[in-house]
Amino acid sequence: MHAKIERYAQIGAGLAGLSMVLISVLQYNEMRALGESRQWVFHTNEVIREIAETRNATSTAESAARGFALSANPAMLRVMIDALKEAGLHEHEIRSMTTDNPRQQRRLDRYERLLAEHANSLQELIDIRRERGSTAAADFSAVTNGGTTGLVLDSLGKELQNEESALLAARVQTQQRSAANTQFICTAGSLFSIVMLGAAGLLIRFDLRRQRLLSAELRSEKDLFTTLMNTVPDSVYFKDRAGRFLRVNASMARRVGIADAGSAIGKSDADFNGPEHAAKKRAYEEQVMQTRQPVIGIEEKESLPGGTEAWMLSSMLPIVDEKGTVTGTFGISRDITASKHSEQALETANSKLAAWNAQLESRNREIVLLAEMSELLQTCNSEAEAESILNQYGRALCPGLAGSLSMTKPSRNLVETTASWGDTSALVTVFAPEDCWALRRGRSHGSGQAQGRLRCAHIDPAFEGSFLCIPMMAHGETLGVLHLLRPGNNELTEAECGLAAMVGEQIGQSIANLRLRDALKAQSIRDPLTSLFNRRYMEESIERELHRANREQVPVGAIMLDLDHFKQFNDSFGHEGGDAVLRAFSELLGSQTRREDIVCRYGGEEFLILVPGASQVDTEALTQHLVESARKLVVVSRGRELGVVTTSAGIAIYPVHGSSANLLIRAADDALYRAKTAGRDRWMVAEGLR
Ligand code: GH3
Ligand code: MG
Ligand code: MG
Repeated sequence: MHAKIERYAQIGAGLAGLSMVLISVLQYNEMRALGESRQWVFHTNEVIREIAETRNATSTAESAARGFALSANPAMLRVMIDALKEAGLHEHEIRSMTTDNPRQQRRLDRYERLLAEHANSLQELIDIRRERGSTAAADFSAVTNGGTTGLVLDSLGKELQNEESALLAARVQTQQRSAANTQFICTAGSLFSIVMLGAAGLLIRFDLRRQRLLSAELRSEKDLFTTLMNTVPDSVYFKDRAGRFLRVNASMARRVGIADAGSAIGKSDADFNGPEHAAKKRAYEEQVMQTRQPVIGIEEKESLPGGTEAWMLSSMLPIVDEKGTVTGTFGISRDITASKHSEQALETANSKLAAWNAQLESRNREIVLLAEMSELLQTCNSEAEAESILNQYGRALCPGLAGSLSMTKPSRNLVETTASWGDTSALVTVFAPEDCWALRRGRSHGSGQAQGRLRCAHIDPAFEGSFLCIPMMAHGETLGVLHLLRPGNNELTEAECGLAAMVGEQIGQSIANLRLRDALKAQSIRDPLTSLFNRRYMEESIERELHRANREQVPVGAIMLDLDHFKQFNDSFGHEGGDAVLRAFSELLGSQTRREDIVCRYGGEEFLILVPGASQVDTEALTQHLVESARKLVVVSRGRELGVVTTSAGIAIYPVHGSSANLLIRAADDALYRAKTAGRDRWMVAEGLR
């Protein structure tokens, strides 16, 4: 719109100027034409005047000639001669003035001839007067007066004059037309110019107003821009294509250590920063100018004057002019040192937190595993089970570590490895308690500073790594020792040592409990004198064994034994001697039976053996063997041999001789009774099915 107005104003002014030039040209032409026609009018008037002069001179010459004819006054003659001469001169003048008019020239030819004739005729009159007097002259004059020369001459003079008068009228008309034209052109042209100039003036006025508004707007924009440049805390700059500053703001001036922002103009980064940083910035600028794409959010460390360093967040953009040409770059940088430091602090805190989390997770995992292990240890039935649990959980609890559990033998002079995980080749499997500092000192011992460092003798001296031995104590008794090994240079951590102590305590507690439980159990199911199972245990077990036999479709042998005349041992050697016989016989029964056989002291000197899966033949063979072995027993009490021990036995086979526990026992008892009555020191098989 603005450009259009300016254009219209220019066109208006141009048209006005052009019309003025045109008017001037036309005016000039018309003026020239007017001048020419004026000249022509003047010229024609001159010609007419000359013609009139010629005619007057001719007429004067004639009048003078006639006067001379009348008076013979020589003055008249003189007048005539002068008038004729004058008429000739005028005629000559007319000829020269009408060279452009052939018609008038032809008339002049005739006029010249007639004038000559007329002069001759007047001369003749003069001559007659002189020679023949006034009468002859009057006659001649009368004759010539009626002649045609003078008249024709006059008529021709009139013709000449008329022609010129006509020309004059035409030229006057032309002059008037030119004048009118000139006036019209001047008026119309002036009006047109005035209109055009007025329009252009209006447009220019409008444009000027617009310019004023624009410059006010521009001033306001400039004020805003200056305020921005002076107050924005970020560094702002503009650069030319060569990387020289065109303008920098106050903040940037402060940052680069100059008092006056204007003094940065023409300088480049190399004047304020190190060469490396300047080169890097220049590379970014070239990239921005080449690709015309901005580079946004570059984080970089910048060295500032005074040796300080700052983290800056910078963006760089191309400056593009109206034609789309990249003329340079501009950029904005923010000092993010503070936020960078807090970011770094946050990162450190985060990584610490992550490490704590990992530790916590690890602790959690260990707690869960420890709880699991503890639960399993509490439910396990034997030390072997406990050892296998430790084997499994030791590996999971201490990944990357090798370990083993060594238990103190009942003799207390040896320690033997019962469970291990990982590579424990550096550990001796059987060693004396004195070889372990942990067992000797009754507290943890290891390669760490807190554990004494001194290496135990049960560890291979060639082993390169760290170790820890944790004694397992329960109820004041040393049960054994838990070992941990880590190959390599890394010492066992405090957490690992703590964990190992907990594991050691748990396993120790568990084993102690197992042992206590076993002891209690043994007390409840075993006969304290012979350590054989008691009758109650037999009654509990026989039902189970018969069920199993039913399920597996196998027989169960039952042997009921009774020492012969046992009372006599008591009587002869006292109760003590009797007890010795009972113990010796019990040992015999224990040693000559299988683990799965159930040997129990059924009453005073009565014993019952259940042999699961044994046929009658097997049972008979065993009974025979036992009866024979008893006979060979040598029992010593208080240094005295107590004499031969014999036994009688009764055999019953389930389900052949008894379909239930009671019936089976009774069948065996009956067979025993028969063996007793048959003479003792023998065995008998039950008869029939009960
Ligand atoms: P028989 O050949 O008929 O079996 O004769 P016996 O003497 O072996 O049988 P009897 O039933 O007459 O005697 C058993 C004795 O065993 C009676 C009891 O005092 C004795 N006795 C039972 N329990 C014990 C014990 O724990 N210790 C000792 N020393 N004697 C016992
Ligand atoms: Mg007896
Ligand atoms: Mg008896």
